Amino acid sequence: MYDLIIIGGGPAGIFAAISAKEKKTDIKILVLEKSQKLLHKVLISGGGRCNVTNGLLNPMDLDPKDLARNYPRGQKELLGPFHQFGPKETIGWFEKNSVKLKKEEDGRIFPQSNSSATIVDSLLLRAKLLNIEILKNQDIEKVYKENESFKVSTKDKTFIAKKLAITTGSSTKGFEIAKDLGHTIKKPIPSLFGFNISKFTLKDLSGIALLVELKIEGSKFSQKGDMLITHFGFSGPAILTLSSFAARYLFDKSYKAELIVNWLFDLSEDEIFKKLIDLKNTKSQKTLYSENLFHLPKNLWFAFLDFFDETFTKQLKDLPKKDLLILSKKLSSDSYTINGKTTNKKEFVTCGGITLKEVNFKTMESKICENLFFAGEILDIDGVTGGFNFQNAWTTAYILGQSI
Ligand SMILES: Cc1cc2nc3c(=O)[nH]c(=O)nc-3n(C[C@H](O)[C@H](O)[C@H](O)COP(=O)(O)OP(=O)(O)OC[C@H]3O[C@@H](n4cnc5c(N)ncnc54)[C@H](O)[C@@H]3O)c2cc1C
Repeated sequence: MYDLIIIGGGPAGIFAAISAKEKKTDIKILVLEKSQKLLHKVLISGGGRCNVTNGLLNPMDLDPKDLARNYPRGQKELLGPFHQFGPKETIGWFEKNSVKLKKEEDGRIFPQSNSSATIVDSLLLRAKLLNIEILKNQDIEKVYKENESFKVSTKDKTFIAKKLAITTGSSTKGFEIAKDLGHTIKKPIPSLFGFNISKFTLKDLSGIALLVELKIEGSKFSQKGDMLITHFGFSGPAILTLSSFAARYLFDKSYKAELIVNWLFDLSEDEIFKKLIDLKNTKSQKTLYSENLFHLPKNLWFAFLDFFDETFTKQLKDLPKKDLLILSKKLSSDSYTINGKTTNKKEFVTCGGITLKEVNFKTMESKICENLFFAGEILDIDGVTGGFNFQNAWTTAYILGQSI
């Protein structure tokens, strides 16, 4: 009989085992992983570089409230856990285990080696040194709670433990097992995606990125940040963050909505209009094509003017005020029809999972089923892009391991 069985050899499962063993060396732990590979998502994460955590907010002097704001789901529940184990502790743990980390300008923290294998190797070496038993190719199909123990079964084997942790990420089987043990699952749906745009007029400008303000019309969702123009529509950090906060809303609308882009959010529509009128008065012989008044990327500026066919090829003196008003409106509230979503290849995460009110975040133990624990993405927690999803795995796994 094991003291603890952990189902799932991803970052949450492996780190929970390490945390438990670091606290109590004689605890008997078994990690059961379905596939042949441990920590597979860590390996493919961050474009093969693994964005382990985020240090935009100074990790050494961090208010957990600011960190928690990066979690559209889990914001309130993670506050306490972040006091115990946040980015500072994550950085400390990896550095203690000989992984040199570096912070990029946007705050994302990567191994200095630029290789996610460094992170995988450090975790697996630590697990080995702690004598943690790990079995691969163990696809868990059923779990029964009998008296004071859990029977954990694959097709042909059964393992028994006093305590059980489920860290199966967004796998359907993990949700089924948790449901059988009495839990409510919030429907898993995607988060962190780009927007496909209907009849996309800017597709030839793919690759241009700029700071904008975004709103989903008719909703409370808005976001300021860098947006990337792609062949299909829009992506980049601001879009991914917006998709994360609006994940359920957009799912309910079958990914059909109006996106309003404010290309010049530091100016009001009136101020934009006034600048255009001033230009008309001072450079009346010129055309708007020769005067990139707002210093937008040149091709983007031309695309806005081309949108109105021949209108803006006229000299400014011949342009009626009403056309300048229309252009001011386009620059400050440009409307695009979202029609579907694209996958973000660098980071992908599921919104949904174990309902948070069924879990005690001081221990990560279920409030429904005694001696059952959860950590990582199986919970209805997900963060915006930038290392916050791994931080959720490290934090909840650390607490789980300590509380066992
Ligand atoms: C392409 C990609 C890139 C990413 N990049 C980043 C990034 O750079 N930064 C970041 O913060 N986040 C990133 N993420 C998100 C991050 O990988 C996840 O949030 C994180 O891996 C969740 O950890 P977890 O241990 O909870 O779940 P997982 O990593 O999903 O691990 C769950 C494990 O459980 C196993 N399992 C499932 N079912 C069973 C079963 N029935 N029996 C036994 N084992 C089972 C699975 O095989 C898997 O090994 C990325 C995700 C993807 C897909």
